[in-house]
Amino acid sequence: MKKNIIAVVAVVLMVTGVYWFLNHRNPQETSQISATQKLRVVTTNSILEDMVHNVGQDRIELYSIVKRGTDPHEYEPKPADVSATADADIIFHNGLNLETGGNGWFTKLVQTSHKQFDVDAFAVSTDVVPQHLTTNVNEEDPHAWLDLANGIKYVKRMTAIMKEKDRKNADFYQKNSDAYVAKLLNLHKTAQSKFINIPESQRLLVTSEGAFKYFAQAYHVKAAYIWEINTEAQGTPEQMQQVLAKIRQSEVKSLFVESSVSPKSMEKVAKESGLLIYAKIFTDSLASKGKPGDTYYSMMKWNLDKIHDGLAKE
Ligand SMILES: [Zn+2]
Repeated sequence: MKKNIIAVVAVVLMVTGVYWFLNHRNPQETSQISATQKLRVVTTNSILEDMVHNVGQDRIELYSIVKRGTDPHEYEPKPADVSATADADIIFHNGLNLETGGNGWFTKLVQTSHKQFDVDAFAVSTDVVPQHLTTNVNEEDPHAWLDLANGIKYVKRMTAIMKEKDRKNADFYQKNSDAYVAKLLNLHKTAQSKFINIPESQRLLVTSEGAFKYFAQAYHVKAAYIWEINTEAQGTPEQMQQVLAKIRQSEVKSLFVESSVSPKSMEKVAKESGLLIYAKIFTDSLASKGKPGDTYYSMMKWNLDKIHDGLAKE
């Protein structure tokens, strides 16, 4: 009898001990990668890919899911995306309804790859003050990166997570991140006063998707659009009439079209309003490598310059 009691007590102590160990181990230690392994990072789109590349450079393996020139709102993951995600140490996504709105492709991909949100998959926008859709006030607008101050928040969050998972390269990541943030901040500061000399009645930025809420707030322009977000049906007759009315109420001189959408609807607006499409600008994707707009910095610089010159036209 005594022996049995001792055995039971021993088992209880052992089980308690194992539980205590599991609950008190350092979570950072368990998620650390080995000393010889390169950190494997997956991003959902080319803008996040470029930010991570600036921080990790040649010391990481980087894979980006949605290819340049295509829309990250709606996407069908390919077998290569699933295996890269399954093998990744970190998966970065924008959050704010970008990849998880519409068909919710990213949520499904994380599940299929046996990964977990906030353990392996991280939204980079958690420090951003979200803006909401006007057509659906419960939904957040994803396009926060079009304000460089938010892009900087993305980079800082990525850096913190990369350092935590790969401590042997922490100093390297931090040094690169600081230099990159300084460069972005410089462009942001120049941009904040860029548009104020243009008459207010001309300062209307007309695009296909309403991707410029954060941009408009940061850089003192007003934004008009045909459809509010790329997960909707596009360019209905009512939406066309609404944007044309806004154009007529203003003295805007130019229209713009995004590189990752079909220009057809904006071409109709141009025809109806008698205005020209001044330039192609970048919202949800970078340009292909070697072209202007092929990095986050260069895409923002291009957008700021083209939008300024188009709106300032006499
Ligand atoms: Zn978009």
